[in-house]
Amino acid sequence: MAILVTGGAGYIGSHTIVELFGEGYDVVVLDNLSNSCEKSLERVEEITGKKPKFYKGDIADREVLSEIFEKESIESCIHFAGLKAVGESVAKPLEYYMNNISGSLVLFDEMRKHNVKNIIFSSSATVYGDPAFVPITEECPKGEITNPYGQTKGMLEQILTDMYKADPEWNIILLRYFNPIGAHESGRIGENPNGIPNNLMPYITQVAVGKRECLGVFGDDYDTEDGTCIRDYIHVVDLALGHVKSVKKLEDKPGLKVYNLGTGVGSSVLDVVNTFVKASGVDVPYEMKPRRAGDVPVNFCDATKAKEELGWVAKRDLYKMCEDSWRWQSNNPNGYEE
Ligand code: NAD
Ligand code: UDP
Repeated sequence: MAILVTGGAGYIGSHTIVELFGEGYDVVVLDNLSNSCEKSLERVEEITGKKPKFYKGDIADREVLSEIFEKESIESCIHFAGLKAVGESVAKPLEYYMNNISGSLVLFDEMRKHNVKNIIFSSSATVYGDPAFVPITEECPKGEITNPYGQTKGMLEQILTDMYKADPEWNIILLRYFNPIGAHESGRIGENPNGIPNNLMPYITQVAVGKRECLGVFGDDYDTEDGTCIRDYIHVVDLALGHVKSVKKLEDKPGLKVYNLGTGVGSSVLDVVNTFVKASGVDVPYEMKPRRAGDVPVNFCDATKAKEELGWVAKRDLYKMCEDSWRWQSNNPNGYEE
């Protein structure tokens, strides 16, 4: 039996495959490579000695999905595939809704047709909007989502919930990720953004490696200790291990479950910069910039439910996240391009 990993060539997908192989699972990847390249899967093979079976194709393509479900013996699906750039989603809402929503609907429908009703979905802390309280538990009400990317996460959670209500044979785990950073310890796989990074850590590492001059810190007048926003950064390997625990949970037929995956520790933008400088030994020049539209001041989770029900705890601290991000970036200044 194998796990179908959509979007498996991407950042979180590639790290998750390494950990799935570590636990002896077989993996089949479906990815259209719109935001990744096959090299990440070759590197997974370098690390683990195993290469996942790869289908280059789109989650909206019924033909390729049928082929996969007919040829491979798929037990469950981890659904990472999706477009994820917040700013781009504001400029191209239709592309985001088509890719993330229409694509996922086709995937779910083909899963149902082939009687594969076990799925783990990549959701996000973005569904809490500006959270009603912190630390955020899974009971925290969903908030106002300010961009189409985030809307696709909220909508897909709702769609999956409605599917479960109509047919309780489904087992569905919605994982709400906080801020994944870091890379595999080997320095062979990592985050590889196209163009100018939107997210904090890839921007920092690109400044450190000399590709960008200076980090802009978006806002220093928030009501926090140093005035910059607080987030719950989580090492991508811990996040990957959360998926392995979720796959095991699916084996108990849990019905519909929702879990936060974060460390429970909030760090400010300046905490991240300062820790990175310590871990890498490289200076990161930065300047204060105005607030970025849509940013929530403070966002970190209570991960007790994942600990109690999945037996999962994030173990890697911010220093380790910075060390591993730096190893990846400094060994691969141009990502997977050699
Ligand atoms: P990523 O872009 O590195 O990986 C996504 C992968 O999906 C890419 O390899 C891309 O080529 C593929 N893909 C996109 N659309 C596809 C389609 N229609 N058909 C087939 N493949 C397609 O992103 P990531 O950081 O690894 O994120 C994985 C998932 O986790 C995404 O759904 C993302 O929204 C979600 N998520 C990410 C973060 C984060 O900060 N990285 C936070 C919360 C949630
Ligand atoms: N941030 C920043 N400069 C950057 C990118 C991000 O100051 O170049 C800040 C951003 O305002 C937020 C935090 O870093 O407070 C994390 O941002 P990111 O985009 O990585 O994740 P988000 O929490 O917005 O999903």
